[in-house]
Amino acid sequence: MAVAYVGLGSNLARPEIQLRTALTELDVLPQTRCLAHSSLYRSPPMLAPGQPDKQPDYINAVAALNTGLTPTELLMALQSLENSHHRQRTERWGPRTLDLDILLYGDEIIDLPELTVPHPGLYERNFVLYPLAELVAGQAEYLHIPGRGTLASLLAACPRGELEKLNFKTVESDVP
Ligand code: ATP
Ligand code: CA
Ligand code: CA
Repeated sequence: MAVAYVGLGSNLARPEIQLRTALTELDVLPQTRCLAHSSLYRSPPMLAPGQPDKQPDYINAVAALNTGLTPTELLMALQSLENSHHRQRTERWGPRTLDLDILLYGDEIIDLPELTVPHPGLYERNFVLYPLAELVAGQAEYLHIPGRGTLASLLAACPRGELEKLNFKTVESDVP
């Protein structure tokens, strides 16, 4: 079994509900339990060069899984969850119903054509680093990012920016 951290994101079709549903689905993947997850966060979209600024904001979170799946099996399981949320792949960083990225898989460094771990965006994305820090609650000094030092050192170099932590009571899924 390994502890894997997964980043979740959505900016289409009621993103809060997409994420809350996905969090329960992660817990029932084969050989996998969701140990904990962060709050939900809102952030402005990351745009590819030349992409017009017309996407809705993103909702993001990070989950910690205990899994017996191999990294490649976990990637396939996450992609099948994305597909079940009707994810359509259009342009790079285009709007999506659900994005599930493997951020960390134990302390492994993986460099396969279809899978890079740690996730290459982990080091500099506020919407990944701050939820991850919440999840490891006070242990950022001790969470080692293979090849990059500690989570605390990455956080120190990454401004929080416009990232907004959502109040559980006011998210869309709780509004009748
Ligand atoms: P980014 O990876 O910059 O966050 P993205 O999430 O929008 O961008 P996708 O279109 O979801 O990118 O994924 C493109 C490919 O990235 C996937 O088909 C998958 O094979 C590959 N990939 C490589 N490393 C990872 C990883 N750690 N987690 C998830 N997918 C990965
Ligand atoms: Ca992503
Ligand atoms: Ca992805």
